[in-house]
Amino acid sequence: MKTIYCIGELLIDFVAIKQGNDLSKAKEFTKKAGGAPANVACAISKLGGKGQFIGAVGNDPFGTYLLNVLKENRVDISLAQRSKTFTTMAFVSLAEDGERDFVFSRGADKKLKYDSSLKKQLKGNIVHFGAATGFLGGGLEEAYDRYLFDTLTQNAFISFDPNFREDLWKGEEDTFVKKCIRFIEKSHLCKFSEEEIQLITGETDLDRACNAVHEIGCPTICVTLGGKGTLVSTLKQKTTVQSISVTPIDTTGAGDAFIGCLLYQIANIGDPHLILSDYDQLIEMVTIANRAGAITTTGYGAIPSLPEHDAVFNN
Ligand code: ATP
Repeated sequence: MKTIYCIGELLIDFVAIKQGNDLSKAKEFTKKAGGAPANVACAISKLGGKGQFIGAVGNDPFGTYLLNVLKENRVDISLAQRSKTFTTMAFVSLAEDGERDFVFSRGADKKLKYDSSLKKQLKGNIVHFGAATGFLGGGLEEAYDRYLFDTLTQNAFISFDPNFREDLWKGEEDTFVKKCIRFIEKSHLCKFSEEEIQLITGETDLDRACNAVHEIGCPTICVTLGGKGTLVSTLKQKTTVQSISVTPIDTTGAGDAFIGCLLYQIANIGDPHLILSDYDQLIEMVTIANRAGAITTTGYGAIPSLPEHDAVFNN
């Protein structure tokens, strides 16, 4: 089984307990582990795969808490780094008018140091880049560039999820898109939400949007469509794979569960690149990954709701 290296942020989400107040009025918050690449590593490890997290947290109690959460979920954290800078935090509340109020206090995630000794380990394995904070500068962005180069020279399988966060890129969407394109052109697999692929390609029609991404250079695309399932597009074919019917209570982390489950399956086929030429197998895998996404929506919070192996594969 191949290892899946998930590179990016691991942070504390402080979520206001009583919604309907902007942050100036919110009084109490719950502390949650957040960060899409870390969620993906948890999704893989909970299914029984080899999820490895590469990212930095502070040398503070929040950093300890976050790494413990990953450890409890069987993620390999041997490549995670501790920084003197405080752990990154995001404070979130839904204001009275339904608008999200958001304060981002960026700390240790930007301090990740590139490790050249990792290059050999990447050979033939899978590397997943989730770009929520990866393009915001600092050591993390430098590490993204250098690991992208390493993955190419080591023939690793590259997966990319832009994880666009409007709160972080308001008014600078063009810069975000440009930075994404450099990764899309090198990736073997890209996962987008509907809004992300439309933002990146400037196309509202999803067929045309997928074709634009293929033209950039990525051969395999999954566009997750919530309860409507997933649109799968390759250079030759497109199919919308239906999801299972569930009663969702919190959709946070469904996309991470989906891509984690898909990568877990790709890691089990010997050479991950083989999936690029086996459309039927890809569709089978997406059908199963849809199940992982759907199950995640039936519980509160991202990491606690990610399914274990039997819930996805033996039902
Ligand atoms: P995230 O909030 O993590 O960024 P996303 O927008 O990338 O998520 P979604 O489209 O919400 O991802 O969900 C990922 C997958 O989970 C979907 O493709 C689908 O298979 C499944 N899923 C999500 N919501 C539902 C639902 N309401 N019913 C059934 N399946 C769902």
